[in-house]
Amino acid sequence: MILTLKSGVSKKGIDDVVRQIKKLKLKAHLSQGTEKVIIGVIGPNAAIHREIFEGLEAIEAITAISKPYKLVSREFKKSDTIFNVRGVKIGGPAITLIAGPCSVDKKESLFEIANAVKQAGAQILRGGAFKPRTSPYQFQGHGYKALRWLQQTRQMTRLPIITEVMDPRHVSTVARYADILQIGARNAQNFFLLKEVGKAKKPVMLKRGMAMTIEEWLLAAEYIAAHGNHEIIMCERGIRTYETATRFTLDLNAVPLLKQLTHLPVFVDPSHGVGVRELIPAMARAAVAAGADGLIVEVHRSPTEALSDGHQALLPAQFAQMVGELRKVAAALGRTL
Ligand code: PEP
Ligand code: MN
Repeated sequence: MILTLKSGVSKKGIDDVVRQIKKLKLKAHLSQGTEKVIIGVIGPNAAIHREIFEGLEAIEAITAISKPYKLVSREFKKSDTIFNVRGVKIGGPAITLIAGPCSVDKKESLFEIANAVKQAGAQILRGGAFKPRTSPYQFQGHGYKALRWLQQTRQMTRLPIITEVMDPRHVSTVARYADILQIGARNAQNFFLLKEVGKAKKPVMLKRGMAMTIEEWLLAAEYIAAHGNHEIIMCERGIRTYETATRFTLDLNAVPLLKQLTHLPVFVDPSHGVGVRELIPAMARAAVAAGADGLIVEVHRSPTEALSDGHQALLPAQFAQMVGELRKVAAALGRTL
């Protein structure tokens, strides 16, 4: 339920409404615009208390949110969410490029890849320290050592970093190193993890689970928002279908659909979505054409030596060429990259 307060409402008027919300054991999410104050009333069966709010002097209008997800819905907030990560704007007209290795393997290699992707136009560096691998016998990531390498690479290149967090117990530590916390497809409905990153003071990229519907995905984002963190990137990374010729099926339907349903920025990961190096640039172009606010792409200087996902890593030169093509698509749509 959204409460729109009367224009020029006093601080006391706002406080009275918030007090009433808390008395009902509901949560108040205040959004103070230039003209109006809007309060989202969130909690189980919030709507049954509508009459109580109708009786309050400060209230101008009450609107129900029809969707099961509330804070992340377009109904709750009409304007696009835009936030800043060390000077890089996420959301809005500029398209953000994130690139780097699947997993951080060696410090020197990370530094070299970071420089190359930066030169090609990437604004944020990716690199996994804790890797969710299908088999327990595959490389699991260098863990904390890799986080320190990422931090050192940020110091040298000034590129903000995104890295995956898999365990609720790791969130506070990973958040000390990362500029964006990545929730991977395999953990997209790990609700304890979602609650924990909801309490973190760092933006979160929520990848789509490989068998998740759009509504389940938005409800996963709602877990993060409901715990206080509203800086969330939705990232389409391919879903599982009957097709086995590509690694997953990149669901680009999700891009324009999410832009309707949520105010959050929408990114696309063509690397995991396709899983075939040669096909990635085409799907990256298609993602930008579909309205994506950003891309996250795997790049490695020597894919055969990569400890994970080498088969889908672009070489730095291929990445640079792709960026040139993406710039043309973005320009045709009146966006920058
Ligand atoms: C990754 O980004 O390397 C990764 C494991 O992605 P996903 O969770 O989308 O599979
Ligand atoms: Mn990967």
